[in-house]
Amino acid sequence: MSKELKFKPIEEWGFNFESPLIMAGPCSVESEEQVMETALQLKDQRFDILRGGIWKPRTRPNSFEGIGSQGLKWLKDAGNAIGKPVATEVANVKHVYESLRMGIDVLWIGARTTVNPFAVQEICDALQGVDIPVLVKNPINPDLELWIGAFERLNRAGITKLGAIHRGFSTHEKTKYRNIPRWNIPIELKRRFPGLPLICDPSHICGTREYLREVAQTAMDIGFDGIHLESHINPDKALSDAKQQLTPAAFGELINSLQMRQSLEQNPYAENQLEMLRGRIDHLDHYLIEMLSERMDVVREIAEYKREHNLAIVQPSRWTEILEDRVNSGQRKNLTEKFIKELFHAMHKESIHHQTEVMLQPDGNKVEKNA
Ligand code: PEP
Ligand code: MN
Repeated sequence: MSKELKFKPIEEWGFNFESPLIMAGPCSVESEEQVMETALQLKDQRFDILRGGIWKPRTRPNSFEGIGSQGLKWLKDAGNAIGKPVATEVANVKHVYESLRMGIDVLWIGARTTVNPFAVQEICDALQGVDIPVLVKNPINPDLELWIGAFERLNRAGITKLGAIHRGFSTHEKTKYRNIPRWNIPIELKRRFPGLPLICDPSHICGTREYLREVAQTAMDIGFDGIHLESHINPDKALSDAKQQLTPAAFGELINSLQMRQSLEQNPYAENQLEMLRGRIDHLDHYLIEMLSERMDVVREIAEYKREHNLAIVQPSRWTEILEDRVNSGQRKNLTEKFIKELFHAMHKESIHHQTEVMLQPDGNKVEKNA
């Protein structure tokens, strides 16, 4: 079903968007002057879409929840003043109707809305038959299927001008980010849907200005199709997301400092060079699989022995010893502790599975696991 998703290439959206696609603008539209002044200051920077939140999904009710419908005209006027299309977030039918009535050019569905299929469906029903680009932020939880589900719903409503915005995932872990990137998730989305434009939102990933550049550069290095950054004329005084917004000038500097990468289709020479290296990777991967299979043969031999001698499968001290030793040896080879632990836990799980199978063979004695 997912394979049938239809995406219209950005070049056919009816705007003159450049590549990479760049969105910039305040977290919230706060006043007519603030959004107009931000737009005027952004005018000479390289960007394609002016963004601004009108209705803000805030964690606590006593914070600024957006200026509401009156701000739509201010946003549209600011876009017109600099000749750029404008985008805002919609979370319900009212938001959709009011945005369409005001001629908002691009809509996005926020992370807190993508998690809720009822809300996404309601938006899709309101958009049935409307030809407008819709960008979908990832759900706050790392659930790729839920993210894809929103594209499927939009497609069913006839919307094909679609884009994905990666804004990181909420976590209880203490990290330097407000929302951890978990790059593997947008990468998997891109692998499954190469035609779906993928935009990175370093502002909501970082939560502070400090790491914006590094995250934006990583997105370019990976091959994202666009960048989304919040920009405000006076970031420290912003009514929402004050710590992560950039002045228009700082936004321009950041964009200009990015090293843009080409896709392989744009550079056939690189494709040839990479082929050799990819050949080596293929060879090493098959070698790894052979080694893992040989290791599993030894595991099965051990299991036979344990069965014959009535020993339990898991011997905790041996497992602790293996883990410590492999982490140390991995670190000497530039592999992180986290990676080695995850790898060995996965191998251990598979090895227990093989051992249990051997133990359960008809002539085996019943053995108690001490795992
Ligand atoms: C926003 O873009 O201002 C916003 C609320 O983002 P998110 O849905 O990613 O939290
Ligand atoms: Mn914001």
